[in-house]
Amino acid sequence: MALQSKSFGGDSRLEAAAVSDPAHILRGASGEHVSKVQRALMQLFDEANIERAELSDAKYGETTEKTVKAYKSRKGKEVINHTYQQSPDAIVGKMTMAKLDGELVEKEKDDPDYFFFKDDQKALVKDDIARAKVMVANVVARLRLVGGIGKDGGLVIMPRNYLYYETKLKILNVFHINSFREDDLPAPADVVQRLTREFSGFKGLPEQAGDISDQLGFSILLENYANLQASLDRPFRCEFYTMGTFRGSPLSFFAAFVDARNPKDETVRFTRHYFDEQIMPTQDDRAVTVAHERCHTIFRANGHPGTGDNPFCVTPHLGDPNVTSSEEALMNPYCYEWFIVAMQPAYLPRQNRNNGCGT
Ligand SMILES: [Zn+2]
Repeated sequence: MALQSKSFGGDSRLEAAAVSDPAHILRGASGEHVSKVQRALMQLFDEANIERAELSDAKYGETTEKTVKAYKSRKGKEVINHTYQQSPDAIVGKMTMAKLDGELVEKEKDDPDYFFFKDDQKALVKDDIARAKVMVANVVARLRLVGGIGKDGGLVIMPRNYLYYETKLKILNVFHINSFREDDLPAPADVVQRLTREFSGFKGLPEQAGDISDQLGFSILLENYANLQASLDRPFRCEFYTMGTFRGSPLSFFAAFVDARNPKDETVRFTRHYFDEQIMPTQDDRAVTVAHERCHTIFRANGHPGTGDNPFCVTPHLGDPNVTSSEEALMNPYCYEWFIVAMQPAYLPRQNRNNGCGT
C-alpha cells in the first residue's frame, strides 16, 4: 500500500492514482475518491475554494480544478515535474497524491480521530463533545438521585422536593417509564403547585407504578445514559463529510450522521449544516446532536421508532406524543436528546412550553 494517511489509505482509486499514471484523477471524475481529495484540499490548503455543488456531488468540476492548480502552483517543484512541465496542470497524479498524503499524515499526528476538518471546525467539535459530556453527566447524576442510587451503587436518600418530582415526571413524559413509588404520593402541596405552573396541561401525578416493567425500564434508562456517558469518553472517529448522499441515500438537512446499519463503524460524520448557525444556533444544540449520534451506535438504534426522521414541534420535557411505549422511546435517539435538554439545570419547562410550534 502506497498511501500512508488514514484519510486516504485503503481507497482503491486513490491508491491507484498514487502509483499509476493512467489512474490519475482529473476533471470529469466523480465519486467518493474525488470527495476525499476535495476535503483534503479544504483541510490542508487555505486558498481552497470549491463550490458546494461540486462537493455535494463529489464531482471534479471547474472549481475543484482551480483549487488543484492553485495548490500545485503553491507547492511548486514538489508536485510539478519540471523536466517536462513549466506550469502546474490540474491533474491529481502520483506527485500530488504523495504530497497530499504526506501532509495528511502530519495532520493526523495531532488528532488521530479527526478527519478532513479545518482547524477551527475541529476545535468546535472538540468543545461540543466536551459540552456533551457535561450535559450527559447531569442526566446521569439526576437519574441516580431520583433512583436513590449513589455513585458507588449504595443507597442515597433524595428529599421529596420539586426537582425530584419534576425529574420523574419528565422520565414518564419522554420515556413512558413510571418511576413513582408508593411513598412519593401524594406529593407535597407546594410541589404540586409548582408543577401546575411549570408544566402546561399538568393534570396531577400518576398512580404509583404497579408494574415490574417500570422498575426494569428505569434501570435500563440509567444504564443506557451511563453507557452513553462512557462512550463520549472513549475515542471515536469524527469526519467532516461534504457529499449530499451517503451510500446512495440523500442526507437532506442532517447535521451529523452515523452508519447505523454498520454499528462496527463508530464514525460520526459532520456535514456543513452542523457548522451552520441557522440550523444549529447554540452549542447545546450541537452537543446533543453528538450525543444523539452516539446513541445510534452504542444502542444499535437503526432509525427513530415512533417519530420518524424529522420530528417537529417537540417540547423537550414532554417528549413526542407519537412515541407511545418505553420500548420505542428507549430505542429512539431523539428521546435521549430531548431528555438531556430537559435535564439541564438552566432548563425551565415553562419557557419551553411552546417550543417550535406555539399553540
Ligand atoms: Zn438519528
